[in-house]
Amino acid sequence: MDLIFLGPPGAGKGTQADAIIKELKIPQISTGDIIRAAIREGTALGKEFKSYTDAGKLVPDELVNRMVDDRLRKPDCKPGFLLDGFPRTVAQAEALDRMLAAMGRKLQHVLLLEVADAVLLERITGRRSDPETGRVYHVKFDPPPPELAPRLIQRSDDTEAVLTKRLQEYHEKTAPLIPYYEKTKLLRRIDGVGSMEEIRKRIFAVLRG
Ligand code: AMP
Repeated sequence: MDLIFLGPPGAGKGTQADAIIKELKIPQISTGDIIRAAIREGTALGKEFKSYTDAGKLVPDELVNRMVDDRLRKPDCKPGFLLDGFPRTVAQAEALDRMLAAMGRKLQHVLLLEVADAVLLERITGRRSDPETGRVYHVKFDPPPPELAPRLIQRSDDTEAVLTKRLQEYHEKTAPLIPYYEKTKLLRRIDGVGSMEEIRKRIFAVLRG
């Protein structure tokens, strides 16, 4: 199944993606994760990426499109994929349409996880991740075991100031994808407020359609 996960930062895409990819046995392609890996490697491209992510701004389309095109051609994407954090602009969505057409593939669903801005701030600022396992916790909603607490880190863009900019980018540049995919009848709206289990059930109800 070829899927897109759409939604504002902190909507829970990463958390819910884990369950989807396990169930469907498809890879999760998170452009945010790919970008953070490049930043950790400290390459010239990584340094360029950091100047955007730390400011809460989107990385230029051409750079992200190329990364996704390369990634989708890898053999593990044969049975399908879950795009998480891509596309984020109409130009990226158009580029994706071209990539998929060139590969003879078609999207099945665009899952839109809907969460109000006011809820996102608390979710994002409480987010902590384990650098050893990649597991993401929340200090209040999904607290880590106490013994892990000292090694957990907060993403440098998960602060209130950067989130404000990320949300602005979302509303300006990413939200236009909602009518874009509504037109193609691929958009599936999912209420992203509730327990992790409730939201997971809503997503699977759509996938099992
Ligand atoms: P995320 O982990 O999806 O919240 O992404 C973190 C940051 O990486 C974003 O705030 C952007 O700076 C950058 N980024 C991730 N995906 C994209 C994308 N599709 N287009 C442009 N920038 C992106």
